[in-house]
Amino acid sequence: MKVGEKRIVDRKEFLDALFSLENQYEIIGPQKLPDGDVTFDRVSTSNQLTFDYVNDYEPLKRFLTPTREELFRFSNGKNGTRVQPSQPIKPFILFGVRSCDVQGFAHQDAFFGGRYVDNYYWARRNKMVVISLACNEPNDTCFCICCNGGPWLDSGFDLQLTALGNRFLVDIGSQKGIDILNQTHHTLATEGDEEQRQELMQSCDEKMVPTAYLAKAIIQITNDRVKEELWEKLGAQCFSCGGCTHVCPLCTCYDVQDTMTDEKAGVRFRCWDSCQYSGFTHEASGHNPRGKTKERVKRRFYHKLSYAYVKTDGHPGCVGCGRCITVCEAFGQLDMPAVVKQIRREGHVEKSAENSNVAGKGE
Ligand code: SF4
Ligand code: SF4
Repeated sequence: MKVGEKRIVDRKEFLDALFSLENQYEIIGPQKLPDGDVTFDRVSTSNQLTFDYVNDYEPLKRFLTPTREELFRFSNGKNGTRVQPSQPIKPFILFGVRSCDVQGFAHQDAFFGGRYVDNYYWARRNKMVVISLACNEPNDTCFCICCNGGPWLDSGFDLQLTALGNRFLVDIGSQKGIDILNQTHHTLATEGDEEQRQELMQSCDEKMVPTAYLAKAIIQITNDRVKEELWEKLGAQCFSCGGCTHVCPLCTCYDVQDTMTDEKAGVRFRCWDSCQYSGFTHEASGHNPRGKTKERVKRRFYHKLSYAYVKTDGHPGCVGCGRCITVCEAFGQLDMPAVVKQIRREGHVEKSAENSNVAGKGE
């Protein structure tokens, strides 16, 4: 068996094998809450899992960069300052991850493993096994097909499952995936199985409602041809609540703080931050380069859509999960499809000798 192969497993046998690994891994998967919402949390039997879900309201990046993560504890005593590292991370399996979140992990990997390698991030990442579940029923806010974010993927997972009745078609993505798959009986997938998957995925594509034709918005933003009036209009509608960045599986900003637990001891932690907060770029001198909401909204979309970043990251800063559509209260004007549409239809100035070819300007 090798990476790239496709296998077939019986659904029940696979889940039984998965939960037989409970001594080695914490298993985290989708569960239905009493109010009907679905969230990813620790599960100890397959009965606690639900398959009746589109996705978690919150992005699964929280299992790699928790909203508040203790980095270490410190204390001052007679022998100087003592530093106590954070608890080691246990291996864990994220089961049932949707493709958009898998693509989000790829972005987080690039950010935390790029020029500066973040050891806290990789302590978790190296312990994580991703078993994703391809979608066949999108939400009315999903548009992953516009962003190469789903509904199924070629890579990024350890195993990718596609539900075919009481069987799973399994794409093998890594050695970690092979080790898990070897816990159960499996056979090679046939052409018929693959055709069945293609039909399911095509039907999922056809059900997607929102669209975000990113290409023109990328061109206009990259060439600094978006009208300032549009950023003014969008800025006037934004509440600077940071909701869009917190739910985005690609956003990575964080803050590091120390807090004292008593007179001589304390904790250093980091927590999610947002480029949409007015204090995010507030400098000690009092100067704030992005003090106006308009400038912060503009910055968010430059970071997500300017080719300078597309080239560095290898993809636009959006995987089409649709969470910013759900969370934003700003009159339906500031989520990704809405902004892309406004740039395409009315928010750009035409190319001229003066304003062409200024990639990255205005960031
Ligand atoms: S765009 Fe929407 S979600 Fe984001 S900060 Fe503004 S109001 Fe909040
Ligand atoms: S910009 Fe919006 S739709 Fe795109 S990945 Fe982020 S939250 Fe999801």
